[in-house]
Amino acid sequence: MPKKYHITPKPAPLDMDYVFKFTIVRGENCINCGKCIKVCIYEAHKRRTDDPRKMADPNTVVCRNCFRCIQECPRGALEKSINKDYSNIGGAFWKPDILMSLWKQAEDGNVPVSGAGYRGPFTGIGFDSMWTDMSEIVRPTRDGIHGREYINTGVDLGSKLNHLTFDSNGQLISVVPETIDLPFPILFDITAYKLSLHVKEAILKAASVIQTCLIIPVTEITPELEKHSDNIIPSLASTDIDKHEAILKKARLVAIDYSDAMLKDFQALKEKIKKHNHALTIVRVPAVKNVEEIVAKLTQNGAEIIQIVADYRGQEINESSGKDGRLLKDIIRAIHSRLVEDKIRDSVTLVASGGIGMAEHVPKAMLCGSDLTAIDIPLLVALGVRVFEEPQKLLVFPEGLDKIPSRKLTQRIVNLMGAWHSQILEMMGAMGIREARRLRGESGRAIFFEEIDRESFGKLFKKEKR
Ligand code: SF4
Ligand code: SF4
Repeated sequence: MPKKYHITPKPAPLDMDYVFKFTIVRGENCINCGKCIKVCIYEAHKRRTDDPRKMADPNTVVCRNCFRCIQECPRGALEKSINKDYSNIGGAFWKPDILMSLWKQAEDGNVPVSGAGYRGPFTGIGFDSMWTDMSEIVRPTRDGIHGREYINTGVDLGSKLNHLTFDSNGQLISVVPETIDLPFPILFDITAYKLSLHVKEAILKAASVIQTCLIIPVTEITPELEKHSDNIIPSLASTDIDKHEAILKKARLVAIDYSDAMLKDFQALKEKIKKHNHALTIVRVPAVKNVEEIVAKLTQNGAEIIQIVADYRGQEINESSGKDGRLLKDIIRAIHSRLVEDKIRDSVTLVASGGIGMAEHVPKAMLCGSDLTAIDIPLLVALGVRVFEEPQKLLVFPEGLDKIPSRKLTQRIVNLMGAWHSQILEMMGAMGIREARRLRGESGRAIFFEEIDRESFGKLFKKEKR
């Protein structure tokens, strides 16, 4: 059995005020009986150290919302209410629940438990309108995550052959293209954000620990960052390739921003990069309205890896599509179907990015047809950043972030990825999929709300044609 890929979490709390969902208030009628201390297994209730006869203020940070202390207090002295600040953070996509969950996962690498069950709606937009088939969960003894079988989260980047050709003597004559293996289907991408060197270094070190790569603008690669060149993917415009020879020489992967000129002669561009080294090329294509057309043409012209870049909420970024634009789930499905129809799906690796905010989004994007994903905002939220969507996108960085030891920031991202790795293993185990590569386009393992809604109620509510 191959050695298991493992991400080791360690506690890395930040000394900052998180915004938590509930506030617990102890009323004046508390008789300091201490029953709440006994019933709360998360130790949210304690006595005051200076006067143990009295109760200290509840520690909301550790509360998991089970409501047990509220129910069991003999005086009804505890009150739980929604924290106003909590309702104001995030937005329709980056919901407060997602932000809080990311903060908690970054603290210690554990998968957060809600404690009070799931009380939200059963469908929503984007990935929330998609469920995965967990039928294998009924056979836990076969489940690899409990040690019996190996679940491989590894993926590879590059073009693959859809068949091999042998000569009449049985000798292989196909040239097998070069690929790069990653043990985990996530790349880091900070191209959209201006970050301090301290933060960039911490993110890059985390990429190195979990054995992935960081996409970063080539102009931001300083000598300090170059030390980790194995984990750096320099990102640049095709017109700047010759200006950055020294950095490109060390890169295993190079990310180039898409331009329409590429559709005419992509091979020439690849040759230009190969002049500097033998790196594989990622073309970063914005998720515009006709993105499947662009991806199909680029693939026919020899593109080996294509990153689909949706906006930060996972929406199409075409100006004209406005709010009605497609979401990442539908964009990736459309691209995958187009490549399958054209019989060129294996020729290219698809990276889905923009709006990947939770562990479950990774296997869901892959079931829709991507080979792997790239993330940005979750890395920043792990460092304590608050996200606001309204009235416009705003990221608020915690004060003093640059004074926090880089080791701690790195560990927080490692913790987040450790928690995501555990959740992805759980999902794959429950789906009976032991190889992450097999997730790609396996839409039979997913249930799409729009489809079952149409199948179940479409006939009933369809307007009669007259
Ligand atoms: S159980 Fe109620 S009355 Fe007893 S200490 Fe806790 S809050 Fe006070
Ligand atoms: S609601 Fe549950 S987790 Fe929260 S403080 Fe009360 S007993 Fe503890």
